[in-house]
Amino acid sequence: MGACTSTKQKRYEIVRTLMPYKVHVMAIIWPKNQHNLFDFESSSYCVKEIEVDFSAQLATVDKELVALTKSEWARNSIEIANITLNEQQAFINSISQQQDHKLWAVLKSETNQFQSIDVRVVLSIKHWDLKIGDIIKLGRVRMHLLEYAFMTPCDEATQYQDDQEDDIQTISDVASCRICFSSKASEINPLISPCKCEGSVKYIHLECLQKWIGIQLKIKQGDHFIQYLCKRLDCEICKFTFRNTYTFQDKSYSVLKLPKPKSSYITFKVTNDDKSKEAMIYVVEIGEKTELKIGRIPDCDIKLRDISVSRSHAMLKLIPTSKHTTDNPDYTIRVQDCKSKFGTLVLAQDQDLLIIPEDGKSPILFQTGRVLLQCVQKKKVNQKPAYKHPDNVVLIQIETKPQLDQQEQMQDSFVTHDELTAGDIIISNSQNPHKPQPNMDVKEDSICDER
Ligand SMILES: [Zn+2]
Ligand SMILES: [Zn+2]
Repeated sequence: MGACTSTKQKRYEIVRTLMPYKVHVMAIIWPKNQHNLFDFESSSYCVKEIEVDFSAQLATVDKELVALTKSEWARNSIEIANITLNEQQAFINSISQQQDHKLWAVLKSETNQFQSIDVRVVLSIKHWDLKIGDIIKLGRVRMHLLEYAFMTPCDEATQYQDDQEDDIQTISDVASCRICFSSKASEINPLISPCKCEGSVKYIHLECLQKWIGIQLKIKQGDHFIQYLCKRLDCEICKFTFRNTYTFQDKSYSVLKLPKPKSSYITFKVTNDDKSKEAMIYVVEIGEKTELKIGRIPDCDIKLRDISVSRSHAMLKLIPTSKHTTDNPDYTIRVQDCKSKFGTLVLAQDQDLLIIPEDGKSPILFQTGRVLLQCVQKKKVNQKPAYKHPDNVVLIQIETKPQLDQQEQMQDSFVTHDELTAGDIIISNSQNPHKPQPNMDVKEDSICDER
């Protein structure tokens, strides 16, 4: 077998552009598929390390870690991530479009995880400051930060102002709303095409859609929170799942219009890997608190009833920013892990997280599918190629990657926004003799953006 393998490897010449530095890659691979959860208390995993000095796709082949160029392919390989090495910097990027197989940064809790790895101390970031749109994962549960507002009691007066009526203009009578049959459209209440329906049911008013979705939500109110439970929000005709937000020309249109609490609050969209579970909009009132506990036990401020969530899983800390004053409260929302069994993960959407740091700077531990991954830039001591394929892996040179059976794309109910094209939206013309009316939605959003 050994001889056979080596002849196959020698059959082609590998073309790699080598860099004057190398990237040390460590992968922790675990065998069992428990909803793609890594049990941080478990010791049944294997650690693989390679050093790579060229841009490559990292993959596992039967528990081996390999680095493949674009012209190589290995049987039974499972792709992990791409690393790009150029003269200035090295980056890591996810390959898969599936949420679980994207790169998630693992937040390291205060105490040492991986006690079973003898000498090695696995490092990662200790906390993350959340921005609107960030997604964190606790066990199987994903929390997507939709909105937050910090306010003093005097802000209350402005909170419940009714939306101003804007100028309504009648445009062509061809397009009309599938619910109210009106063809009037305006900038704050445009006719949009939110699904795949065509013809007379193509368009719906934003406000008519908001009302329809409002009726579908089940409301559960607690002392300091409101939960809006929703089954998948699908179009009744074409079954297409509505997005949370639609955007057109840098303006976003939210289909969820929920009453705002009177005091400071944070709103998350909570979804579960277990597709049978309902999605939930979780509005938590902050009150005077500066710390919010997330977990499964009743005294948590954000209670997540899923067995994969630890009793006390993670913590949100409100850190006053430099702009913070008593009259104008302003905080950074910082998330950190509380020694949870399955870890607290942050979806690596931020480019800063994806730069591979130089040796000595704190590296980030990523989870992607069933692999934990850590990359660090290192100096080369000599000019020899840093990487050689493991002997037991058979590689094939290819012109184009063989077309594998396309896995049926699971409909991702977690898509957060969708760009509308000009044909998907009807708004009034901007030649308006009157001054534009203030738009409450935009004003409220700007509370968050002024930071
Ligand atoms: Zn309508
Ligand atoms: Zn439809």
